[in-house]
Amino acid sequence: MLNFPLENLRLKVLNFMVLLVLPCGILLSQTSESGGSLNPHADEPCGFATVIQQLEAQYPGFRLSYDQQTLNAKQSDARKLRDQGIDRRKKVIKDTLYYYDTIYTVPVVFHVIYNVANENLHDSLIISQLAVLNRDFNRLNSDTVKTRSVFKSRAGNARIQFEFAKVDPSGNATNGIVRKATTKTTFGSATGNLQDLMKATSTGGDDPWDPTKYLNIWVCDLSVNNQDNLLGYAFPPYGHPSWTSGSWVADSRQGVVLHYKVVGRNNPRATGIIASSNMGRCAVHEVGHYFGLRHIWADDQYSANKCLVDDYIDDTPLQGIGAGFTCNLGGNTCIEPKNDLPDMFENYMDYSTEACQNLFTKQQVQMMRTSITDFRTELPIKRDIITRMRVFDTVVYDEVLIYPINKETDVVVEIRNEDILEALEIQFYDMLGQEITELKTLTTNETRFDTQTWADGYYVAVLKRKSDGKVIRKQKLFVD
Ligand SMILES: [Zn+2]
Repeated sequence: MLNFPLENLRLKVLNFMVLLVLPCGILLSQTSESGGSLNPHADEPCGFATVIQQLEAQYPGFRLSYDQQTLNAKQSDARKLRDQGIDRRKKVIKDTLYYYDTIYTVPVVFHVIYNVANENLHDSLIISQLAVLNRDFNRLNSDTVKTRSVFKSRAGNARIQFEFAKVDPSGNATNGIVRKATTKTTFGSATGNLQDLMKATSTGGDDPWDPTKYLNIWVCDLSVNNQDNLLGYAFPPYGHPSWTSGSWVADSRQGVVLHYKVVGRNNPRATGIIASSNMGRCAVHEVGHYFGLRHIWADDQYSANKCLVDDYIDDTPLQGIGAGFTCNLGGNTCIEPKNDLPDMFENYMDYSTEACQNLFTKQQVQMMRTSITDFRTELPIKRDIITRMRVFDTVVYDEVLIYPINKETDVVVEIRNEDILEALEIQFYDMLGQEITELKTLTTNETRFDTQTWADGYYVAVLKRKSDGKVIRKQKLFVD
């Protein structure tokens, strides 16, 4: 069973005042007595910043109003504390620690699918894999000492734990490891178009345990012609705003898939480049995707400007491409206009070597925890959506690109996946939250908006799923 608190952050909000007492109630309700806790910092618990972001998307202009109210409350708190002779700064830190201390425990079931004995991994490897997840998701890894000083303050502790499921869906005791022989020699696909055959008994794999209640991890052979091109993959939560609809899949496909050679530490099956690290961190990376994280370089390596699209995480530096299984700590693929930082190869969501990796950032942590409270507690059965994937990992590239054209007067919305035509709508707002355009359905691969009458400045494009109006993405862009 999942023991997650039911914090439904997708609020139906009538007005701003109601809203202020709903999300993270504990955080806000204690304002009057403890002071200083109304503190929407990046490392705040409960995914509050994300809530604000979602509400801003839903009710443009909300953020401004909220910020003003927050500021008023903070000033009032500070006055009260000063009157009581309390050091506000220490108080805030104490409160933050307290609020941040929820630990989520996720029951895990491993489905070991084997064709030959070599693929039927020993329990000890599976156990070591779980230990690596627990270590890295709780920042207990000893190699945190390798985190470069510029990034130390950004490293976060996810406080997410994993345990072998103790009870199966029928109520029987279990050790959380299911073993299944298969006649299929591999589940890899030469085209890179994965079919998820390991996820169903009828196709030679093993049916998932209720994906809303267990993290299913399938372990099988993913090689193609004996090449280990694909080491693992996972899908983000259905509807996660950092991802496009092409990445959202039905419950039956939720979970993580691992190539049997990368499971656990010092896996004796590891060969070649896999053997050079062999630390079980492929699973850490994939579980990061499972909790909604994108690659740190945002998968835009094929765009003209690789530094344009971010990973929707503010405390990871801009990065143009993946690290390509290196640990080039001097690398810096994008120059940030202010406070330029090197690429963060320490991040589990890069493609650096496993020995190079040692952190999630605080905002990545926040996003993963929000994914638990907002998505993973109540995944209803969803319609299946055609998913495109690429070899090595499940990441559907940004299939919708929104950009102004220099020296012309248009903003272009480009859709690269025909499957999602007619399914999305877009609307532009100015920075005050005023509607600049009508809501428009995207019916062609390229839709242009004439910006001649728009004043120079920043605008926000809000992309929505047409079927239910859910905001899929917000993007700020400069028009001049
Ligand atoms: Zn990945």
